[in-house]
Amino acid sequence: MAAVVVVGAGVVGLSCAIRLLEAGHDVRVVARDLPTETTSAVAAALWYPYRAHPEALVTGWSRSSYGVFGELADNPATGVRMLAGTEVLRTSSPDPWWRSAVPSLTRVERPPAPYADGWTFVAPVIEMPVYLPWLAGRVAQLGGTITRQELTGLPDGAATVVNATGLGARRTVADPSVFPVRGQVVYVEQVGLDRWWLDGAAPVYVIPRSQDIVVGGTDDEGAWDLTIDTDVAGRILERAVALVPALRGARVVGHRAGLRPARPVVRLEVEHRPDRAPVVHCYGHGGAGVTLSWGCADEVAALVAGL
Ligand SMILES: Cc1cc2nc3c(=O)[nH]c(=O)nc-3n(C[C@H](O)[C@H](O)[C@H](O)COP(=O)(O)OP(=O)(O)OC[C@H]3O[C@@H](n4cnc5c(N)ncnc54)[C@H](O)[C@@H]3O)c2cc1C
Repeated sequence: MAAVVVVGAGVVGLSCAIRLLEAGHDVRVVARDLPTETTSAVAAALWYPYRAHPEALVTGWSRSSYGVFGELADNPATGVRMLAGTEVLRTSSPDPWWRSAVPSLTRVERPPAPYADGWTFVAPVIEMPVYLPWLAGRVAQLGGTITRQELTGLPDGAATVVNATGLGARRTVADPSVFPVRGQVVYVEQVGLDRWWLDGAAPVYVIPRSQDIVVGGTDDEGAWDLTIDTDVAGRILERAVALVPALRGARVVGHRAGLRPARPVVRLEVEHRPDRAPVVHCYGHGGAGVTLSWGCADEVAALVAGL
């Protein structure tokens, strides 16, 4: 099969590379940042359709990914676990727009003050420091390669290019509609937590992992600065302790910030370029790149097959 160059080694590029390799393509991944250096490595990463549009497509991609993560959770080496957790809401709300993406969702009968509503469901929790190396290993196992290379545009010399450059699409394809939504997180020691908690409006999220707990967060549109703000970190912890009192006194073990690649809508489409290889664009997943990854990768593979 013809060669495909995937530009980008975050969760989106790697998932696309795997589906294309499984379909028999010869795949090379090229990226400025290797998997554990990407925004994807900062993701919390709870399966949750957050800050990604349009709703109908996002719901479908999220549903597909949910199924794949459910299978991956059978293999502890992937870093994927299916964990029950609760989203709390300050006002009574109808079912979430993505309700059909999860097999079941139970209303919380007596939400803790000051919340008025909430729902509990089982969601994939993906431990990115484990999962990204596992994805990269799977690319290698299937015969693909991952090479560090910073590009100023999309490459020539392949039959097809997949553009999974996230926020980098501002440069690789001069798309000004993709913009950063900065997120800062605090890592605290594991205190025996085995459920996730989310207050999406704040946002406050508490995501347990094997060795630590990811506590978030912030969502600052248009902010590019990756410097850790210690005042912000303090406020993140305060709000998280109010939601999950078991976190009080937990030792802080680290801090990180990342830039979600937001866009009015996820760009997933073929672009035919005169005298150049066609491109399948797949970027702009906002706060849900992990959540959407397998659904989008399946669609990218189908688009490449149709070229
Ligand atoms: C604090 C925080 C918490 C989050 N929590 C969650 C969560 O709980 N659940 C969830 O689903 N999502 C979450 N996200 C969002 C998620 O991290 C992103 O949606 C996802 O990482 C996007 O993946 P991507 O592969 O498109 O981009 P990236 O991970 O940014 O990868 C882009 C790749 O393209 C490469 N690239 C870019 N420009 C160039 C260039 N010029 N030349 C060569 N290579 C280039 C980069 O080097 C990189 O390899 C969170 C994000 C943050 C910041």
